[in-house]
Amino acid sequence: MKFDLIVIGAGPGGIFTALEAASRGLKVAILEKNKRIGSKILVAGSGKCNLTHSGKPKEFLDKYGENGKFLKVALNKFSPDKLKDFFKEKGLPLVLVEESGKYFPNTFSSLDVVNLLNNELLKKGVKLFFNVVIENIEKNEELFFIKSKDIEFSCDKLMIATGGKSYPGTGTTGEGYIFAKKLGHKIIPPQPALAPIFIKDYKFSELSGISFPQAIISFWKKDIKIIEKKGPILFTHTNLSGPGILDNSRYVEHDTKIEINYIYEKYEYALKKFIEEVNINGKQSIKKYLSQYILPERFLKFTLQLLEVKDETKIAEISKLKREEILKYISSNKLEITKVAGFENAMVTKGGVSLEEINSKTMESKIVENLYFAGEVIDIDGDTGGYNIQGACSMGVLAGRSM
Ligand SMILES: Cc1cc2nc3c(=O)[nH]c(=O)nc-3n(C[C@H](O)[C@H](O)[C@H](O)COP(=O)(O)OP(=O)(O)OC[C@H]3O[C@@H](n4cnc5c(N)ncnc54)[C@H](O)[C@@H]3O)c2cc1C
Repeated sequence: MKFDLIVIGAGPGGIFTALEAASRGLKVAILEKNKRIGSKILVAGSGKCNLTHSGKPKEFLDKYGENGKFLKVALNKFSPDKLKDFFKEKGLPLVLVEESGKYFPNTFSSLDVVNLLNNELLKKGVKLFFNVVIENIEKNEELFFIKSKDIEFSCDKLMIATGGKSYPGTGTTGEGYIFAKKLGHKIIPPQPALAPIFIKDYKFSELSGISFPQAIISFWKKDIKIIEKKGPILFTHTNLSGPGILDNSRYVEHDTKIEINYIYEKYEYALKKFIEEVNINGKQSIKKYLSQYILPERFLKFTLQLLEVKDETKIAEISKLKREEILKYISSNKLEITKVAGFENAMVTKGGVSLEEINSKTMESKIVENLYFAGEVIDIDGDTGGYNIQGACSMGVLAGRSM
């Protein structure tokens, strides 16, 4: 079966490529290994589907780490505003959740997003092939040949939009890398990102569920601070999670340590304040003194217990060493990272098809003419907050438009 364009993978990157190319008159087919489109859209935002984020395209770029600048053209061509317009025009307006800056469909239902996109694909005449297991991809001078178990396809243009390797249960098992490599592309080793972080001798199991809305997190390699960010963190039963951790897990390498400041005040300043307070009101209890930091009660109790200080101890009676220990613990708690959670629990994949070999103005391969890439399969991963779906859609539109 011959098409102008075949898209492999029916995630946001593939779907928006197909919609855009079909509206420009191309005969398009999507090959999807699942039995429906948008398996990852369905789980996005815990089923509510956080599609994009507030802010201008320029502010978006640093949400994708060092590689963000690659997305400049794509985000300008199909900006967050254009994505919002798209859904509004189709009858599913997006609403902003003010506190987080995240946009969701007004029904807060991923299924509504998937149904809408499915209808749009059908309206545009895109042929959908489900349960397709691709066995081989080859190219001669003019055409790509895609062999599946049951059917053989050929096309003038090929889009690989197979996603990354994370959440393999949704269909993303990394075959896109194999296809790209076979066609001559370099692959930056895929790694789990937007993933919880495991800590050596993790002590916070009993504090599972406690979160800090604006902790300061820094990552250290030997004695050098690699990066410092602010963000919500969450203690889970087995690891550190929450957007502040997930968004920055991409910076974790071998031998990285994490430092957490739970009180938004530098250690030196907190120490100076403590000493002054001993002179002013040394009789107050340590528990009362620390209550100024609005720390969760259970965390405070746990910290004092861990450092063997009784809640009611007067601050004037706390030794120099002990007060330093307490303040260090809450303002610069350095922890040894053992690993980042694996692909099963990572929301996205870092690494993928090297950006050096993709034209950021068209999403076309610089190596193989008429071969395109969009979405998580390439070496781009964004923070939590709608940046990944927006990025994939923007790349898809850019590719479809330049075909
Ligand atoms: C639990 C979870 C929640 C998330 N929540 C959000 C969120 O709220 N907001 C946000 O912006 N991002 C979120 N993300 C990330 C976001 O879903 C992805 O980054 C985005 O879907 C990537 O789009 P994509 O088009 O590149 O690929 P995907 O959406 O991953 O789609 C790739 C498609 O290709 C298919 N495929 C793979 N290999 C083959 C093959 N060999 N043959 C045929 N088909 C194949 C897969 O089955 C899949 O359908 C979340 C991710 C997870 C795991």
